[in-house]
Amino acid sequence: MQAVVVTPGVANSVRPVEVERPELGPGQVVVRTLQVGICGTDVEINRGLIGEAPPGCDHLILGHESLGRVEGLGRGARGLAVGDYVVATVRRSCPQNCLNCRSGESDMCLTGDYTERGIKGMHGYLAEYYVEAPTWLVKVLPALKDVAVLLEPLSIAEKAVSQTFAIQRRLHWRPQTAVVLGAGAVGLLAAALLRLRGLETYALARSPRGTPASQMVEAMGATYWSSREHPLASLTQELGNIDIVVEATGNAQVALECAAVLGNNGVLSLLGIYPPYSPPQAPVGRLARELVLGNRVVFGSVNANRRYFETGLEHMAEMEGRWPGLLDRFVTRRLTLADFPAALEKAAGDIKTLIHIGH
Ligand SMILES: [Zn+2]
Ligand SMILES: [Zn+2]
Repeated sequence: MQAVVVTPGVANSVRPVEVERPELGPGQVVVRTLQVGICGTDVEINRGLIGEAPPGCDHLILGHESLGRVEGLGRGARGLAVGDYVVATVRRSCPQNCLNCRSGESDMCLTGDYTERGIKGMHGYLAEYYVEAPTWLVKVLPALKDVAVLLEPLSIAEKAVSQTFAIQRRLHWRPQTAVVLGAGAVGLLAAALLRLRGLETYALARSPRGTPASQMVEAMGATYWSSREHPLASLTQELGNIDIVVEATGNAQVALECAAVLGNNGVLSLLGIYPPYSPPQAPVGRLARELVLGNRVVFGSVNANRRYFETGLEHMAEMEGRWPGLLDRFVTRRLTLADFPAALEKAAGDIKTLIHIGH
């Protein structure tokens, strides 16, 4: 079958190749891949910065944002039927099966020895077929199949927003104002979730108004601001107490500045994979002081377990009802497996590149 692979650790190794079709084992289903979304993680893997091949293999099949259709069931596989549309989760439990992994929270894995399909130690979904146990697959109703490939990035935003509210059970809290940094897919989806919760939501990104992303922000009843006209440092003056900040640019300097604009009792979630060095002249003392004096919380959030895929599906249906056509507009480029490596190059204004594999 056709697949797109990288040699982990080698920069610019992404290539379309022929590989063996995976064998269907007992308790597994075989899925025909229909669409795969591309994101920054795939780009980082192709830079050789992250990514790990499965044991005994010299390549890694890329791709972790998927939509597929069940084509066959292995012996004893239950919970899905041939023809079902499915989105696969990404992370798999660690071999020690730690407290969190065995509780269905592999996204909170305690040991760090988890694997991730298309990223760490397991092949991904950029191939014509994959096999998987139903427990890691989320069934999608046909009504949502045209947008369901966005469920994996939505699950990331879903976890951040839902954990923000879970953390705030520590106090009496009535949030009004939310700010999202970054207008990529995860930032836009976080803004949509915050709008569904009725928050006055501001999305900040570098580009001036008029981009597809800014129009989508406005279509969901949020406000788009270019950070050139509304620098982070002046946000508190413009907006007053900011209750929620979601950092989705992946820029460490921005992450640090976000912590400084957080209002009293506010929560900041950091979603980027920040480079492991500090920005020069980081005002760490002031930051620590502000966190204490304002009872502020900063937390990091990575990956998402099945629960967030399921609530994500409910919110996806709600978004489709409230803003018809909005989710469709996330896809700014449609390509095929043969279009690699060019598929990883992002043009200005691109939000989500989709690879169409089967239908
Ligand atoms: Zn992704
Ligand atoms: Zn674990």
